[in-house]
Amino acid sequence: MAIPRFAVLAHPVAHSLSPRIHASFGRQMSIALDYSAIDATAEEFGNALGAFAASGGVGANITLPHKQRAAAACDTLSERARRAGAANTLTRGATGWHGDNTDGVGLVRDLTGRHALDLRARRTLLIGAGGAARGVAPALLDAGIGDLFIVNRTPERADALADALEQPGRVHPRYLDDLKALGEFDLIVNATSAAREGAMPALPMSLAGARTAAVDLSYGEVAIPFLAWARAAGAHDAIDGLGMLVEQAAESFALWHGARPDTDPVFAELREHRAALVTAD
Ligand code: NAP
Repeated sequence: MAIPRFAVLAHPVAHSLSPRIHASFGRQMSIALDYSAIDATAEEFGNALGAFAASGGVGANITLPHKQRAAAACDTLSERARRAGAANTLTRGATGWHGDNTDGVGLVRDLTGRHALDLRARRTLLIGAGGAARGVAPALLDAGIGDLFIVNRTPERADALADALEQPGRVHPRYLDDLKALGEFDLIVNATSAAREGAMPALPMSLAGARTAAVDLSYGEVAIPFLAWARAAGAHDAIDGLGMLVEQAAESFALWHGARPDTDPVFAELREHRAALVTAD
């Protein structure tokens, strides 16, 4: 029997840890799979996804910058992908792709499980309104956070995300320039890719305090500026996105293979791997 084919589509894709994570899950669960990385720009995305399907691809993870594009390319969407307007997990059906979004549940599992945070009633600031922000916002609301404030470089996208969440008394879009007036938050989530361009938005220290958990959805060197800001501002927790990455991958794996792997050994392996890379630098 042919080994089922999976892939992650992104641009750039060279540093994606997804092939490594899914290979580890497959070994752990004794499930044979072929998982590759496909680099596709925005212009190439549709053709790349089509070529992957034509070559026998049955499942795809989608990441930066294609999650909204991927949702639009699907025939059907899960309720959470529809609410997010973004898909990170595609499964091939008889006639097309079914899109789901495991980012939100991955983040919540990492924060409430691995980091033992109680998210309930936390006054929350979400920075960013791209594909990742759209994935995590509904899950944070479902996990019981308090009011959710959303800021974004392009304010119209923060407005659109707030509208899509359909909870006007609880979700508040604001301008980045107004951050100084917003006071302290119990949870701050950086869902921007700004640091990839060396351009993290200026954040006032008044946003964080001794109860604040600050979370960057990125990991590695991209997460350093935000986490350094959080520590300097006195945040109680400064958490990167490596745990979320492993948890959202485990959710995708479960959708495709019907069984959820143990994430702890894979998380530990990646932490060690990344620490070795940093040391090697
Ligand atoms: P995306 O859809 O391209 O959105 C990028 C977001 O960053 C938008 O809100 C964008 O604002 C903002 N941004 C980009 N450059 C900026 C700048 N120079 N200054 C201020 N804001 C800027 O990307 P995404 O898929 O949401 O991913 C965002 C980050 O989350 C990435 O670093 C990604 O690696 C990380 N992520 C991690 C996981 C995980 O499992 N750990 C999962 C998903 C994503 P505009 O709307 O104004 O363009």
